[in-house]
Amino acid sequence: MSKETELVRNKAKELLEDGDVELVVGYEEGTYPSRTTPLFADTLEKAERLIWNPFCVNSLPKLLSKGHFEDKLAVFVKGCDSRTVIRLLQDNQLDRDEVIVLGIPCNGNVDLDKIKDKVDITTIIEVEVTNNGVNVKTEGSTEELSREEALYDKCLDCRFPNPVIADEVIGNEVSELPKNKNKDDEVASLANKSVAEKNEFWEAHFERCLRCYACRNACSACTCRDCLFDRDERSTWLAKGKTLSDNEAFHITRAFHVAGRCVDCGECERVCPVGIPVQKLNRKISLDMDNLFGIGEIATSEDDIDNPPPLGTFLTEDPEEFM
Ligand code: SF4
Ligand code: SF4
Ligand code: SF4
Repeated sequence: MSKETELVRNKAKELLEDGDVELVVGYEEGTYPSRTTPLFADTLEKAERLIWNPFCVNSLPKLLSKGHFEDKLAVFVKGCDSRTVIRLLQDNQLDRDEVIVLGIPCNGNVDLDKIKDKVDITTIIEVEVTNNGVNVKTEGSTEELSREEALYDKCLDCRFPNPVIADEVIGNEVSELPKNKNKDDEVASLANKSVAEKNEFWEAHFERCLRCYACRNACSACTCRDCLFDRDERSTWLAKGKTLSDNEAFHITRAFHVAGRCVDCGECERVCPVGIPVQKLNRKISLDMDNLFGIGEIATSEDDIDNPPPLGTFLTEDPEEFM
C-alpha cells in the first residue's frame, strides 16, 4: 500500500470513528486496470477501500452540490478540485459548516489515453510523478516518460497544485510545477487569428460535438437543476439539437453562463470524449472578464467566497461600452 493511500485511509477512519462526519468522499480502484472511481465511505469497512494515486482524476466536489447529500461529510481534493470547492461555496451549493475539506498536494494526474501505447496499462504496479517526469513501474520494467507524454494537458500548466482551501492538508506541499505548456499563449495565438480562421477552427470542433454534456456535468459552475439544453428538441430553439448551429448555440451560451465564474479547473476539456478544446473558449472569456472588470485570477483562496462574480452584481462604474 502506498504512503498516500495509508494516510487517506487513516484520516477517513479517524473522522468516521470520532463522529466528525457521516461520509468521506474519496476514490477506490475502478473496474479496469489503473482506473479509479469515486467512493462514498460511510463505514470503516468502506474506508479501507480508499486509495490515492496519480489516477485519482475525477473532481469529487461537484458530486456534492446542494441537495445531493444531507450528511456532514469530508472530501479529498487536489489543487484544481479545491478551486471548484470555492465555486460551489460561493454559489451556495455547499455549506461550509457541513464539509471538511481534506487537501492533498498534487504533482499531476496520468492520462491513460496518452500512455496506453507506451506501456501495458494492465500491468502497471506503481506510478511516480515528479517535476522531471513520470516513472511507470510495470510487472516487467520501469518506463521513464516525460510529463508531456504522460500527464493530462491541464496538469502541464497547473498553477495551483496545492489546495487553495483546506481544513487539513495531507502530505507535503508541492513546490511550483514545471510549465510544460502555456495555455494562455495558446488562447492568445488563437485570438490573434482572423475572424474567418477562428470561425473555421471552432466550426471544425463544434460540428464533432456529441452533445453528451460531459463538459457541463463535470463543471462546478454548471449546477442548474433544470438545464435549458435538456429540453425536448421540438419545443424550443435552445433545445438539444444536433446541427452545427445548435452546437454553437450550446457552447456560446455555456461559455457566457460561466463567464467570471469559471475556476479554470480544466475538467470540461479533460472529460470531452472527442477532444474538443472547450477550455480555450472559457479561458478566453475569463481573460476578457479580467480586462473588463479587473477580477484577476478568481478562486485562489477562501477569501474569494465573499467576492460576488462580476456578472452577479453591479457597480456604478462598470464598463458600459455597449450602451
Ligand atoms: S491540474 Fe494541478 S492539481 Fe489538478 S490534477 Fe493536474 S497537477 Fe494536480
Ligand atoms: S468551464 Fe471548465 S474549467 Fe471552467 S469551471 Fe467549468 S469545468 Fe472548470
Ligand atoms: S463533452 Fe465534448 S462532445 Fe460532450 S457536449 Fe461537451 S464538447 Fe460536446
